Amino acid sequence: MADITLAALSKVYPGGTRALDAVDLTVADGEFFALLGPSGCGKTTLLRTLAGLETATAGRVTIGGTDVTDLPPGRRDVAMVFQDYALFPHMTVTDNIAYPLRIRKVPAGRRRAKATETAGALGLADHLTRRPDQLSGGQQQRVALARAMACHPRAFLFDEPLSNLDARMRLEARTFLKRLQRELGVTTVFVTHDQAEALALADRIAVMEHGRIRQLGPPTEVFRRPANTFVASFIGSTPMNLLTGRATGGTVEVAGQPLPTPAGLALTEGETLTYGIRPEYLRYRPAPAPAPGALTGEVRVVESLGSAQLVTLDGPAGPVQVVVDEDTEITLGTTGHALPRADRALVYRDGTLLTPT
Ligand code: ATP
Repeated sequence: MADITLAALSKVYPGGTRALDAVDLTVADGEFFALLGPSGCGKTTLLRTLAGLETATAGRVTIGGTDVTDLPPGRRDVAMVFQDYALFPHMTVTDNIAYPLRIRKVPAGRRRAKATETAGALGLADHLTRRPDQLSGGQQQRVALARAMACHPRAFLFDEPLSNLDARMRLEARTFLKRLQRELGVTTVFVTHDQAEALALADRIAVMEHGRIRQLGPPTEVFRRPANTFVASFIGSTPMNLLTGRATGGTVEVAGQPLPTPAGLALTEGETLTYGIRPEYLRYRPAPAPAPGALTGEVRVVESLGSAQLVTLDGPAGPVQVVVDEDTEITLGTTGHALPRADRALVYRDGTLLTPT
């Protein structure tokens, strides 16, 4: 078993930056877990503290039931793969992969056999005698993975391992990584800036802000029901519309218009609320069709999303973004309506999601 538990883990750097603020987290054995959040929220610090490359200021780290908080990196039995792969430029592929085994004083014959076998499993068999500068970015990444795998760690820690690859390689490497992790069943913690990557790869994701976890759950749950307006504005390829309104007769009224509101919310008449709706869950209707329960505004911006378009309407509710199919003709300066799907609307009180009672 190699579940990972962080208990009230804090890290304050010299100078006073609180990069981790009493983080509690359990990653299950064999789970693929992603850490997401804006730059500076503490993702890398969390990973480095797990690996033992940073010392925790307070709290405990447990891996597979063993308290490793005071153990050096070499004794934690985890393998970290960095963004730049940290390969040795003067060593061959085989020697790079075998390096951790050499540190562990595994005899030369055994380490060569292990390195060759691991390289073969990752499709590197034809490149064993090459140096890193004779490999593509994707191949270098595989060498870094092979090196991490060769000593059968209890957990993989990945810090943006795909970020140096071009868009196409990145997709390929993503699929490869997912398959590999499934096959090996090794507990994996993955730091990324890329939401699509986290949503595609992870069993669960944690969204961090200022050294704290703001939401933790399966990707679909975090995407569909962000627990607070921070996560709502962070997650999604186009940000969620977050509109200020007030409770009126069991619905949320925005700019004088009662909008479709989920049933079963305990609203207090007249209170200020935030109405959240993703651009994908608004239906566009051009004026003059009447549109009760819609957000109305003038078409200010039309951006192509490839197979769809993102339209920004500017009206009494402020700017509202709506995703429209590619065939609908949209004219700048005209008036349009955006109709929310009631089953996808979210209501926040003081930044926290309200759930039906
Ligand atoms: P990014 O996505 O930009 O890599 P991150 O979420 O990984 O960011 P961290 O690198 O963990 O964030 O940094 C968290 C906070 O700690 C930031 O405010 C950062 O400036 C600070 N920090 C990181 N390393 C150090 C250090 N060695 N000394 C002092 N402060 C640091």
